[in-house]
Amino acid sequence: MQLPKSRRRQKLREKRCQYPGCGKIFFGIHISKYCPEHRQDRYRIRKRTKPEDVNIKNQTYKHTYTEVVTMVMDCALEGCEHQFEVKIYPRQYIYPKYCPEHRNEYKRIRHLQLIGRDDLIEEMKRESESFEFDQGALGGEDENEAVDADVVDDVA
Ligand SMILES: [Zn+2]
Ligand SMILES: [Zn+2]
Repeated sequence: MQLPKSRRRQKLREKRCQYPGCGKIFFGIHISKYCPEHRQDRYRIRKRTKPEDVNIKNQTYKHTYTEVVTMVMDCALEGCEHQFEVKIYPRQYIYPKYCPEHRNEYKRIRHLQLIGRDDLIEEMKRESESFEFDQGALGGEDENEAVDADVVDDVA
């Protein structure tokens, strides 16, 4: 999640830390999800860098090109015959795996409905849902949490 780097001061309110197993009450702005301790970098739940996340819409293409080349790839969507051109850059290995039309999830679902592959739609939805695990996961107080000496500060 990209938080805006706003310098504006915002109202603090009572929040419950959403870090799994924490649940501590702290004061934060409305978008704060974690207590001061779990806001530290080492606790950050890095959803966007999970490799599976990348592979939903992209593919890893290992190559050894040292200059930019253009490749023709097949759309990875079941039943789509489209090919698309991708520029391959040196030392960059993540590339789209769907043709431009099917980079949109809605269009992929439409396509799968048309060819009667509802099973693949289910599979696709399960894949994207598994990355929204931070919302309300593992609530509950943890009385054993170490005393946090951090001063509550405005993170805006
Ligand atoms: Zn916490
Ligand atoms: Zn396609």
